Amino acid sequence: MRTRRAVLAVTALSLALSLTACGQNSEGGSKDDTKGGKGSTIGISMPTKSSERWIADGDNVVSELKKLGYKTDLQYGEDNVAQQVAQIENMITKGVDVLIVAAIDGSALSDVLQQAADQNIKVISYDRLILGTKNVDYYASFDNERVGVLQATYLIDKLGLKEGKKGPFNIELFAGSSDDNNTRYFFDGAMKTLKPYLDDKRLVVRSGQTQLNQVTTLRWDGGTAQKRMDDLLTKSYGTEHVDAVLSPYDGISIGILSSLRSDGYGTAAKPYPLVTGQDAEVASVKSIIAGQQTMTVYKDIRLLAKTAAKMTDAMLKDEKVEVNDEKSYNNKAKVVPAYLLTPVSVDKSNYQKDLVDSGYLKAEDLK
Ligand code: BGC
Repeated sequence: MRTRRAVLAVTALSLALSLTACGQNSEGGSKDDTKGGKGSTIGISMPTKSSERWIADGDNVVSELKKLGYKTDLQYGEDNVAQQVAQIENMITKGVDVLIVAAIDGSALSDVLQQAADQNIKVISYDRLILGTKNVDYYASFDNERVGVLQATYLIDKLGLKEGKKGPFNIELFAGSSDDNNTRYFFDGAMKTLKPYLDDKRLVVRSGQTQLNQVTTLRWDGGTAQKRMDDLLTKSYGTEHVDAVLSPYDGISIGILSSLRSDGYGTAAKPYPLVTGQDAEVASVKSIIAGQQTMTVYKDIRLLAKTAAKMTDAMLKDEKVEVNDEKSYNNKAKVVPAYLLTPVSVDKSNYQKDLVDSGYLKAEDLK
């Protein structure tokens, strides 16, 4: 009898507890009763509106998620780390179900993502890998090392180095923001490819600045790159000609080209060097058409948004999340399973086919 009464008491207690839990859930916006359904809200945290690509990324992710029936909360951190952290905290408080985050500083989100994990909120690292926390579920990006390989290969081909041209050719190197994990991948891919020609001195970096920490550009800022290029031209060039510039991103390329122009480049007597880029931004594609910037690396961010939306949907429905890389991206706390898309090298010869015919850019925007 005593035992039976005890069992009844325990049953009543757990019923009461679960009822209380239900009540709390429905008031506080339960995750479980809305998972995968139209009621779920996805928090999207983007780094900045200062570059076209991130504006398009935000819009694309919202539209892909809406197609799948989700609500969205899109915020931009404006390259201010504290602002991005506060925005993510706010999304957690509002009870989003999944966070899609393109970090400003990949190492600055551990605390806020612990708060997300405590609320059972899943996290997708978008384009840029979030570092130093196990609270990242998936990574949606491009093959970042390949971006650098494409930029360097383009320079090698156009300088005729593979065909045996001796040069020596003068090259200067630029890299992205030191707090963005992608920076290292882009730079390593490029340097690995350039190395044989730097070693045999057919390529010469007159400034001597070849280490990543000497060539980064905080927050990918074009003005910062322009100033550094001014400095390189003044200190290391004089009558010497720059033949190639490794630039990791279109906004940086635009800054480098302004500096070159001020130094008299862009004439028959003093032609522009080869200048690489990334993102196929309108201003840079126009510059490529005008014969200034030489190439860019096109990453179809429409596909990236689709990938992140599919990952979100699968996670919320407890279905298998499709990945194609489970080894390359160790974020110092875990290897983050990734889906990596393929970047494409674009110059004057293929912009029409790859950028315009594919519908990525509009022909009239390039006039
Ligand atoms: C992205 C690039 C972009 C750069 C600057 C990187 O993390 O992968 O596509 O050019 O940030 O915004």
